[in-house]
Amino acid sequence: MNSELKYEAVIGLEVHAQLLTESKIFCGCSTRFGEAPNSQTCPVCLGMPGVLPVLNRKVIEYAIRTAIAVGGTIAPHCRFARKNYFYPDLPKDYQISQYELPLAVGGLVEITGDGMVRRVRIRRIHVEEDAGKLLHAGAMDRAEYSLVDFNRCGVPLIEMVTEPDLRTPEEAADFLKRFRAILQYLGVSQGNMEEGNLRCDANVSVRPSGAADFGVKTEVKNMNSFKNVQRALEHEIRRQITLLQSGQLVVQETRLWDAEKEVTLPMRGKEEAHDYRYFPEPDLVPVEVSPAWVERIAQRLPELPAERRQRFVQAYGLPEYDAAVLTDSRALADYFEECVQFHRDAKMVGNWIMSELLGYLNREGKDITESPVTPAQLGGLLKLIYEGVISGKIAKAVFEEMYGTGRDPETIVHEKGLVQISDREALSRIVDQVLDENPGPVSDFKAGKEKALTALVGGVMRATKGKGNPKLINDLLRERLAGE
Ligand SMILES: [Zn+2]
Repeated sequence: MNSELKYEAVIGLEVHAQLLTESKIFCGCSTRFGEAPNSQTCPVCLGMPGVLPVLNRKVIEYAIRTAIAVGGTIAPHCRFARKNYFYPDLPKDYQISQYELPLAVGGLVEITGDGMVRRVRIRRIHVEEDAGKLLHAGAMDRAEYSLVDFNRCGVPLIEMVTEPDLRTPEEAADFLKRFRAILQYLGVSQGNMEEGNLRCDANVSVRPSGAADFGVKTEVKNMNSFKNVQRALEHEIRRQITLLQSGQLVVQETRLWDAEKEVTLPMRGKEEAHDYRYFPEPDLVPVEVSPAWVERIAQRLPELPAERRQRFVQAYGLPEYDAAVLTDSRALADYFEECVQFHRDAKMVGNWIMSELLGYLNREGKDITESPVTPAQLGGLLKLIYEGVISGKIAKAVFEEMYGTGRDPETIVHEKGLVQISDREALSRIVDQVLDENPGPVSDFKAGKEKALTALVGGVMRATKGKGNPKLINDLLRERLAGE
């Protein structure tokens, strides 16, 4: 019916990030991940009758740090609210969250889509407690039984909600990466989606391109990687457009992304705020944040991704693109800077990290923190190239060995006899021999075909098993050919 119409998507995100405090938000239990089920619980986080929560000051500090970093406004007074719902992983039958008075409002995060900088506005940032975790015996819809682990109950979270400013799945994934980088740079969250300490839900609707009003939205949950966020949104947008094109309506509901089947499935009708019967939390006093405290936190704010990117361009002379890639995560930027301590040529260090190291790591789905090659080792390898001990070509083979074994470049080079031949006399003999054996390229070169030199250089490199110093070979060949 309306198949001629073009549609655009409108996306807003809700991001939950676990904060890296040592203890939980309202009790002294440890927040450590991966401990035995239910070993990190107490009467408070198990919701026993008669207990009282005590707010962890560090949680508020980390949330303030995040709000300042995105340019939000911190409320001088905020308070907690009870969000009432029943679920087996929530022993109190309510979650302590924030509702009408959040910790911070406003702010923005910049993303670059199609080479253009776009500003995504942030609506609010608030703090709340996490729920426990259900472990199903088998697939969720057919499980024989489910077990519950309360270790996660009361782990502090910040919830950040954006305005509906995103228009494509790529933008949504990009925003999420930028926000994660900010959290990691601030040291307030690990931001690992696969481990569940960073979670993202999306509100999605579609409307005819250029329309002012929003369409009916659905909420998509359960997207536990950047790739899944993008795929789930692509699918959901297609689904909604297909509905509208066939004259049907989009139903407001919560949908679950099934990564295996690559579809979103209806989970439940979308709750309205009143379904949760929010009311002010009577067990906690309102939070007062003094301007002096905000000021102190602001002054101690670490360098943020955008600042570090700028510094990489100015201090190391890196191209914008390289600086953006290398500051993508704090760990990667740290790796780069450590490497530069061992080898001063920053552009070369950047190239090797981006083309070689990240290539190897990406193929194995690994993170820079899991690199078997240390910054000192990579720096050492680059030094060997720089000093002419090995050629760039040999260096790639040495790097492969370093990556596979974690051994030092110097050891590999000496054990395998890979030291570059820079001895003029030794190379001269080989050059003469190659010239004798290749009369064709020789006469081509003399007839003015510059390209023929490449074949001759290649011949000498082969004869030296890749160990000849390429610059010296080039010089020697040109001398000989000019002299003949
Ligand atoms: Zn506890």
